[in-house]
Amino acid sequence: MNRGLLIVLSGPSGVGKGTVCAQLRQKKTDLIYSVSATTRAPRQGEVEGINYFFKSREQFQDMIARDALLEYAEYVGNYYGTPRDFVERMLDSGKDVILEIEVQGALKVKEKFPEGVFIFLLPPSLDILKQRITGRGTENSDVIDNRMSVAVEEMNLIRYYDYAVVNDEIESACHRIQSIITAEHCRKERF
Ligand code: 5GP
Repeated sequence: MNRGLLIVLSGPSGVGKGTVCAQLRQKKTDLIYSVSATTRAPRQGEVEGINYFFKSREQFQDMIARDALLEYAEYVGNYYGTPRDFVERMLDSGKDVILEIEVQGALKVKEKFPEGVFIFLLPPSLDILKQRITGRGTENSDVIDNRMSVAVEEMNLIRYYDYAVVNDEIESACHRIQSIITAEHCRKERF
């Protein structure tokens, strides 16, 4: 049996990675979504084990020490990381796994899994990205400015990715990602 594909969906915060992933989860039931661990406080409506595994800094550092994370990054003052075992088990059983992570973490995954499929989600423009981050209404203006400057730096890292998808409209972005996954399954190297 072929190992599953590791699909990494990345791009600046606010670009809509979470919404695109949620939509993909509904459509493509055989795509497995990796739930990250984070030290960030839960936002309203977020559920433990569905959106994130919420951890204290001590618990997170313990996961790092036990090498329980495939990758992790510190982002705007909080840790975020991908639990390793779950991803490895799913890939070994032939399932495709999608990670929705920020850019530093994606580059670390690329070192370990060069065969992964790296997709960069782009906003239609920086103005629209700022509107989306502001519109979420959960962050103060310092956090928004910080996220915007991180976003601009991250755009320069697109060259490390295999694909770029503009999130102009959620349905079309999902459709393009599904097409990428289908095409990757048809690569001759997999036969
Ligand atoms: P938020 O706080 O908005 O939920 O997430 C902030 C950023 O962290 C987003 O860009 C999100 O994709 C990223 N992120 C979520 N989980 C992980 C993870 O496991 N690893 C890394 N490196 N980034 C993550």
